[in-house]
Amino acid sequence: MNRELRREAAVLIETDLTGLPVLVVGPPRLTAATVRRYERAGAVVSVAASPCDMTTEASEGARLGVLVGPAVTWAGARTALAGRCPVVTEPVPDAPRGRVVLVGAGPGGLELMTLAGIRALAEADVVLTDRLAEVGDIAALAPGAEVVDVGKRPGHHAVPQDEIERLMVDRALAGLTVVRLKGGDPYVFGRGGEEVAAAVGAGVPVTVVPGVSSAVGVPGSAGIPVTHRGVSHLFTVVSGHVPLEPHRAEALAGLGGTVVLLMGMHNLLPLTTALVRGGLSRDTPAAVVERGFTPDQRSIVGTLGTLPDLAARAGAASPSVIVVGEVVRQSAVWARRVGAEAVGRALDVVA
Ligand code: SAH
Repeated sequence: MNRELRREAAVLIETDLTGLPVLVVGPPRLTAATVRRYERAGAVVSVAASPCDMTTEASEGARLGVLVGPAVTWAGARTALAGRCPVVTEPVPDAPRGRVVLVGAGPGGLELMTLAGIRALAEADVVLTDRLAEVGDIAALAPGAEVVDVGKRPGHHAVPQDEIERLMVDRALAGLTVVRLKGGDPYVFGRGGEEVAAAVGAGVPVTVVPGVSSAVGVPGSAGIPVTHRGVSHLFTVVSGHVPLEPHRAEALAGLGGTVVLLMGMHNLLPLTTALVRGGLSRDTPAAVVERGFTPDQRSIVGTLGTLPDLAARAGAASPSVIVVGEVVRQSAVWARRVGAEAVGRALDVVA
């Protein structure tokens, strides 16, 4: 480290930034990340795009000057601040310093996120989130970050996918660390692949932090293992967003494993009907697990033949995971159903 850098490092180490007026000078495209960092450390930051834009008030009031950008642009600001306050510099390499981190938030509260996801939030300048309820919690984990809810909210449309990708890439190109927070795992019906491609296409470094997918976690939370020794040694995760085409339903039925359907509640009857037509018995155990990991979580168990009616009567809705296969018998709620059957009561159980 040369003498100048050592001196600058000493200034920063010895300076308590809380409440300190800091003047950041540099092109907005390059200063955004620096501004957020100093604000997060408690400084009161003002910004000037160039030495000519420095107001007298800002330059006289500053207790620390931070010069960002190519070193050739620093001379004017150094002269203006000379003798007033210490100055530190942040050369910016040509390559963009921003990045995108896709984070899987898991299927429920933030407790189900990974430590890598929590760390990414702590380092974020911007969080683009799909999650509905916990924006406040996200803000607490991402202090200083701008939290933008791009998901569907009651009365609001979701921000269109190309707009989300544009926001994400633009902010990263401006030097910001952008966390794209998604429910479950980013790559399971989460459009994670498209967002990674958008970042790569724009030359922005991108990493993906996996998340617990509802496809496995939600059945598990209802006591349904998606595989079980001697019962099912495979599971297939299928989008129920559109009805199953007959050849797919036949293929699924032929596999002899567990079928997990996401986004399928509005198609529950066509989906179960297709699976029966595809070759599964109407008596195949099947369950709807609704609002997993919330205080309102419910399981509705029955068979392919009975589940649509049961779910409709219970008023079950999205978000729910539909599980079809013998593994449903492993759950305590199935045991209660069988117990009820044995004493001649209701054939199916909502719990
Ligand atoms: N990437 C997500 C899935 C997104 S698709 C993941 O890996 O989990 C959205 C679907 O996931 C919902 O329609 C529902 O089928 C399911 N889902 C997500 N969270 C859920 C939850 N807490 N309880 C029940 N189903 C859930």
